[in-house]
Amino acid sequence: MAKVQSFSDKVAKAQKQAKKCPVCGTPLSYMKVVSPVATESGAFRYRTRVARVCKCTEEELKGM
Ligand SMILES: [Zn+2]
Repeated sequence: MAKVQSFSDKVAKAQKQAKKCPVCGTPLSYMKVVSPVATESGAFRYRTRVARVCKCTEEELKGM
């Protein structure tokens, strides 16, 4: 029978391992990014998303 990893084991493991970007190897941090979205009526609404920040994206995000 295959060994089944419990959910709590996975969470504990994920917390121990800092997530790193597979491209640049920088530990990822998270940042809220608010971007305007045009609606059909021509008004703007703001959409908030959480972006992962590493060396690949930080220049782009800081320039916003
Ligand atoms: Zn990266």
